[in-house]
Amino acid sequence: MAKKTAKPVKRVNPVKAAKPAPRPAKKPVAVKAAKAAKKYIYSFADGKAEGDRTMKDILGGKGSGLAEMTNAGLPVPPGFTISTAACNLWYAEGRRLPQAIEDEMTAHVRKLEQVAGSQFGSTSNPLLVSVRSGAKFSMPGMMDTILNLGLNDAAVEGLKARTSNGRFAYDSYRRFIQMFGNVVLEIPKEKFEHEFEAVKHAHRAKIDTDLGEDGLKETVARYQALVRKETGKPFPQDPVQQLKAARDAVFRSWNNDRAIKYRRMYDIPDHIGTAVNVQKMVFGNSGERSATGVGFTRNPATGENRFFGEFLVNAQGEDVVAGVRTPRPIDELKDVMPKAYKELRAITARLEKHYNDIQDFEFTIEDEKLYMLQTRSGKRTGYAAVVIATDFVAEKRMTPRDALLLVEPAALSQLLSPVFDPAEWKKLPVATRGLPASPGAASGQVVFTSEHAVAWAEQGKKVLLVRKETAPDDIHGMEVAQGILTATGGMTSHAAVVGRQMGRPSVVGASALRIDEKAKVCAVGDQTLKEGDWLSFDGLTGEVKIGKVATRPSEILQVLAGEMQPQQSDIYRRFSTLLGWADKVRTLGIRANADQPDQSELAYAFGARGIGLCRTEHMFFGEGRIEKVQRMILADNEQDRRAALAELLPLQRGDFYGVFKAMHGEPVTIRTIDPPLHEFLPKREDLMVDIAKLEARGGDAAELAGKKTLLHRVEQLHEFNPMLGHRGVRLGITYPEITEMQARAIFEAACQLAKEGLKVLPEVMIPLVGHVKELRDQKLIVDRVAAEVMKEQQVRIKYLVGTMIEVPRGAVTADEIAQEAQFFSFGTNDLTQMTFGFSRDDIGKFLGVYQERKILDRDPFQSIDTVGVGQLVAMAVEKGRRTRPDIKLGVCGEHGGDPSSIHFFHKVGLKYVSCSPYRVPVARLAAAHAALSVKVGD
Ligand code: ADP
Ligand code: MG
Ligand code: MG
Repeated sequence: MAKKTAKPVKRVNPVKAAKPAPRPAKKPVAVKAAKAAKKYIYSFADGKAEGDRTMKDILGGKGSGLAEMTNAGLPVPPGFTISTAACNLWYAEGRRLPQAIEDEMTAHVRKLEQVAGSQFGSTSNPLLVSVRSGAKFSMPGMMDTILNLGLNDAAVEGLKARTSNGRFAYDSYRRFIQMFGNVVLEIPKEKFEHEFEAVKHAHRAKIDTDLGEDGLKETVARYQALVRKETGKPFPQDPVQQLKAARDAVFRSWNNDRAIKYRRMYDIPDHIGTAVNVQKMVFGNSGERSATGVGFTRNPATGENRFFGEFLVNAQGEDVVAGVRTPRPIDELKDVMPKAYKELRAITARLEKHYNDIQDFEFTIEDEKLYMLQTRSGKRTGYAAVVIATDFVAEKRMTPRDALLLVEPAALSQLLSPVFDPAEWKKLPVATRGLPASPGAASGQVVFTSEHAVAWAEQGKKVLLVRKETAPDDIHGMEVAQGILTATGGMTSHAAVVGRQMGRPSVVGASALRIDEKAKVCAVGDQTLKEGDWLSFDGLTGEVKIGKVATRPSEILQVLAGEMQPQQSDIYRRFSTLLGWADKVRTLGIRANADQPDQSELAYAFGARGIGLCRTEHMFFGEGRIEKVQRMILADNEQDRRAALAELLPLQRGDFYGVFKAMHGEPVTIRTIDPPLHEFLPKREDLMVDIAKLEARGGDAAELAGKKTLLHRVEQLHEFNPMLGHRGVRLGITYPEITEMQARAIFEAACQLAKEGLKVLPEVMIPLVGHVKELRDQKLIVDRVAAEVMKEQQVRIKYLVGTMIEVPRGAVTADEIAQEAQFFSFGTNDLTQMTFGFSRDDIGKFLGVYQERKILDRDPFQSIDTVGVGQLVAMAVEKGRRTRPDIKLGVCGEHGGDPSSIHFFHKVGLKYVSCSPYRVPVARLAAAHAALSVKVGD
């Protein structure tokens, strides 16, 4: 101990040192500081716990739930939680715990023995415990848990004596050795299964429960032999040693591949670590008067207010979720064990009220006595989240403000995903049915492995992942699939839970499917499906059909498009109610990035109030336009260029007219031409091939000459580093007639609308400005053209001229730039690119490694790097305001639709964010979350 404190250099824990990326806080909870007390272990027993619901950071979700339930007087088996801080320390100290914590644990074991009235290793009444992982954010099935720990050759006889049930005792021992062997000793599961099968075969047992005490004893012996063979050591008999090894294995499981992958996917920081819960075992497998189950207080797929869950009689925890035995619907528990059922209903209703959220719970019944083993906020689909939030308000359970926090902003996009066209869907017969685990329409080509799902999806194919059951390492396949279909498992199986969370349509437990994953075929009835065949299913009804079925837009999109009345769609009404609440709370404005009138209409319908970025060059690619653009580029003198621009003018004017009109008088930010010119020209290699071909077959001389001129110009325009080349404001400065034409198109369209009596608010935005003089140059042109056009048209309109802040120098000199700019729009894509010096198009080559090595937590192009790039934004905001207090500030990069970035933009005091039309609902809600959890300027 003393030696340790004297150590001069403390090893830096890279995990700990990394700053947590700010996540939008789900609920403002007070976090108790436990650090000061240097306490690492918290007990929960007999109605009193040392922790509570506010301590998720330290105790993990499971530990804090167990503590809270204990304090509430609910029947929870006693135990203790080893904190996440201990886990981090374990890693920091080179995978070991300081002796002080080991001692603290020993003391807690002694205490647990006392309250449990049983002892580790006792031959009359042995204490058995579970060792359960549990991080702050639930990661279903990603980490490990071990049950029945404490059993050894002596204790198993003790358990047998206490319960007078030898079969049960040896079955528990068998399970323990298998779990411990797999999780702690890392012996593959199959090896244990192989031994078990051999015994079953010898005893002519078809299923596990056919095996009696003798068979199970034999299994235990074989398992022990296996352990000795694999590890060179006998199966550990000392329960304390077992406990330490299991605890360390749980710590270790925090960094297994699938847990890491899972955290990446859900933006869970790596440094938070897992807690370990040690809890006295209760036995749902001790006979026909025992059971185990899981459930939800409401349906997590649809949000329907109905008690929901599954159970198995005479079974242990894992059996329900493992998908091995098909569990029974929880309603049937009412008949099997009425008293326990009633108590369960009462307890879970109370938990839902207490936590003010739907609860996902685990319970076990031992000899008719109910025990609660877990409670947490239930993961739900975006659809269910919206239904539950609006129901809670309708039930007067909470205010709209609190209800907003029950819906993850990103989950709203699930509500926009397609549904089947009912007429098309009816045409096919139902091939089979499964449990409707996650709603949504899925149609795709069947694949039987996650590897194939990923490979096929990369080729642009739509796939349906069809498996007997999914396991945690299937998440990548599940992510790319249109939907997930399994033959076994219940509504709480892995496929169901993860499918719901990802918003991926899922149907599980379609037991009529006979899947041969090796042969890659699947039979249903008298039909056989091969890999690549089309299959469709409806995650809301559970119906599965063979063939491809066209999908159509979600109800919400149909209502927005006027194809359905709001009264006809319950979910639309809830969706718009919820977003209406969000609009009242948020202070950030929401705009959209849109270039076309129809996109702008959609964005407006989604609630965008303004366009934050209209990219004029996208209009250049429209039909019949690119030739004119090319002519403009190819012109080697101003006169020819002006002639080509004159042809483009009416086209651009028409576009702007449409976009302005779609925005109903809300501001529209139009950016002048931005990309390097060669993007509008054919590729050099293609031209060379064309020329070679023409020459070879003696083709048309005029065509050949034309191609040669083009090639020559393409070569002239070639740039070594086009992203840093002749683009943005640099184009406008070298070819002022382009800016002139664009300004003219903007103001002519605006004046026309004004004359029609409509309101317009154009904001002309000059891209890539790094120096105030660049902007001054362009602003002179815009102002001049605006004056000319207004004079010609005899109307006056208000407009603004501003710039994008996307070059670091622009941010640094924002005070100077604000002398000219009436607004700033942060172009965070380029700003990220240039601040990091990461090419947006090449980051894929190394980002993975950066994340693995924990150099970067997240892709900075998806979620703004608040520490670096974000500081440039904050600085420019501050400097810009100093020069021009009323300067308008917004953001138009991809980050404008990312909830955690929106949080940041709210904090630094931007006026609005702009994102793609489909992200607008997400942004509205995220802006409300930000307003509820953090003040501007904090
Ligand atoms: P997960 O997070 O994967 O659900 P858990 O730690 O919750 O892992 O445990 C896995 C299963 O074991 C659950 O079904 C749980 O209810 C059961 N279980 C855990 N601890 C106990 C215990 N002390 N007694 C009986 N069953 C338990
Ligand atoms: Mg659990
Ligand atoms: Mg840019």
